[in-house]
Amino acid sequence: MSQTIRAIRGMNDCFAPDIHAWQQLEAILVRATKRYAFDEIRFPIVESTALFKRSVGEATDIVEKEMYTFEDKNGEFLTLRPEGTAVCVRACIEHGLIHNQIQKLWYMGPMFRHERPQKGRYRQFYQLGVEYFGAESWDTDVEVIALFQHILNQLGLDSFTTLEINTLGAPPERKAHRDALVTYFEHHHDKLDEDSKRRLYRNPLRILDSKNKEMKELLEDAPKIQDYMGQESLNRFEAVLKALSGLGIAYQVNPQLVRGLDYYSHTVFEWSTDRLGAQSAVCGGGRYDGLVEQLGGKKTPAVGFAMGLERLLELKQEVAPFSEGTLELFIVSDEALRQEALKLAQELRELKPSAAVETYCGEASIKAQLKRANKKLAQTALFLTTDAWAKGQVMFKDLATGEQKEASFKEWQQHWQKNRDAL
Ligand code: AMP
Repeated sequence: MSQTIRAIRGMNDCFAPDIHAWQQLEAILVRATKRYAFDEIRFPIVESTALFKRSVGEATDIVEKEMYTFEDKNGEFLTLRPEGTAVCVRACIEHGLIHNQIQKLWYMGPMFRHERPQKGRYRQFYQLGVEYFGAESWDTDVEVIALFQHILNQLGLDSFTTLEINTLGAPPERKAHRDALVTYFEHHHDKLDEDSKRRLYRNPLRILDSKNKEMKELLEDAPKIQDYMGQESLNRFEAVLKALSGLGIAYQVNPQLVRGLDYYSHTVFEWSTDRLGAQSAVCGGGRYDGLVEQLGGKKTPAVGFAMGLERLLELKQEVAPFSEGTLELFIVSDEALRQEALKLAQELRELKPSAAVETYCGEASIKAQLKRANKKLAQTALFLTTDAWAKGQVMFKDLATGEQKEASFKEWQQHWQKNRDAL
């Protein structure tokens, strides 16, 4: 017997009933992006490896350890996208979408990182990201933060998440802080763990991200970016915080929040939850005014975020699950009425376009048909039996309560039409 082939570790299949929750989540997300007037952009899953090396940064975990990179038949190095921002910027430059104009974009789809799989951390996972190009002012930061906050509200998750926010300042301030960090950590070299020693010269900011409890005190006493920041950057951050308060958005300033990637400046932010265990971050983002130029475009300010759909959905299902039943009607019929059942299902779908209607195909007893209706969590079963049908009668049963009624077919049709939803 040949060996069964299984999915790659950390990459998931998704099917009913979970897929119903995914679809409901995605519908809410898409509606939210529309309400905030962002347009969708779709781009490839595979890109040149150089794109991520130049944007995400050579010394980040993603580029150092996590990319799915391969050489294709032409000898070109390609990578399955580990994130969307760099790809979005590449596409915008290539198509002249952000030259001297404001562009508000969103994308949704799979990302790939070769991390150690565990609950909430996968090797293929889904993100929805938004990017706001062409405006430097503090209110764009607030607008994108408000969008994700709106999503949390729509999902009923606002009280289960915390928004942390920080500023990394302008690039020269960031550089001065970086130099101070290197000097500080050089002085305390013996207290650094192996990961931090490796990062010392390549990406010292990332040391601040360390979750190692033994380094907690060392990190708390490390130079703070705020001490290297000019008045302009401080004022900008103040304006962001004030506007968030004005919109009723709660936040915590966390001076240690740096985000892992190289391209951020000024505002960075992250939402996390204490309901999901170790993988607690549900959405993160920030301002990246230098990235477009770094990738060969004209200098263009930008701010954006990406949320992890698996984690958002896990949180939702934990605290306020989506409804499961999406099948409104299941038609059960005697064998002699199979043609009528097909026709009726078609008519009922026309009459109520938003409803899902299934009719049993094939030979099976009424009992077996009903079993499937229950398995599919149908709300109502409609019975077409030969005797009743001959008299223009049907029987229908509410599968949740077990209540059963008989009615003329005309009455039933009117009832169905009356409950018709708007598309
Ligand atoms: P990042 O691009 O790392 O800031 O990720 C943005 C969001 O994507 C995070 O807040 C997570 O919700 C989600 N995410 C990142 N990496 C993974 C992963 N390996 N598995 C599942 N979700 C992830």
